[in-house]
Formats: sequence, structure tokens, C-alpha cells
Amino acid sequence: MIVGQDILTHLGIKKIMVIISHYELIFNSSNNIFYVKSNDVSYCPFCNCCLSVKDSKNRTVISDDGRKQIYRIRRLICQSCSKIHSELPNFIQPFKHYGSEVIEPVLDEVSDQCPAENSTIKGAFLLLPYYYADNK
Ligand SMILES: [Zn+2]
Repeated sequence: MIVGQDILTHLGIKKIMVIISHYELIFNSSNNIFYVKSNDVSYCPFCNCCLSVKDSKNRTVISDDGRKQIYRIRRLICQSCSKIHSELPNFIQPFKHYGSEVIEPVLDEVSDQCPAENSTIKGAFLLLPYYYADNK
């Protein structure tokens, strides 16, 4: 029987976002980018080992009114298995460029105002178990 982190490897999943719920957003007006400063301690979703900062990258998020905003997020590397995980604040959907306030109402079928295509919504729906598992 496959349990825990082994099921991720068995399914061929090599990359999982680390979702953080305690962070600060620091706006840099010279480049219009929000820097995400994490206050959470994150662990590798595959082996539970400690993560260290590797580098950072920009992530574009589209809000419910269609406006784009860039966030600078950290990429963390596991000190044991060397897998790399992006660190996302919990208002950003993993792998998708829409904020969670846009996607969640559509998944609940209470909103028809989402600018995302159906394939985006379906993709986000498939990822929700990982998203919520990280937020427990
Ligand atoms: Zn690891």
C-alpha cells in the first residue's frame, strides 16, 4: 500500500507548491511588484525536511476585475531530496494565475464573473486537494 509522500512520487508528481498563510506583502513602487515576506516555516511536501531559499521569481496574478499584479515569490530547495518548491501565499491558486477569490466562487457555482477559461477552472479543481491539504 502506498501512503503519505510516496503516493506523490508514485503519481509522478515532482513539484508541489508550498502554501503559506502567514506573510507580509511589501510593495515596491519603483517596479510595481509586491514582495511576499513569509512568516511561516515550510517543510518539504515530499520528505518533510527543512527547506532553504534558492531564489525568487515573479508571479502574475489576475484579480476578479481583470487587473494584473506581479508578486515576487520565493523558490525553496529541500536540503534532503533537493526538490524545488515555489512558496505561494494562500490567496494565489497553485499553477494558475488567478487569485483564489476569483476561482473559489466559480468552483462553488455562485459566480459567473470569472475571466478564466473552463480549462483553467477544471485544472484548478484538480489541484484543490493539494491546496487544501497544505492549509490544514
Ligand atoms: Zn524533500
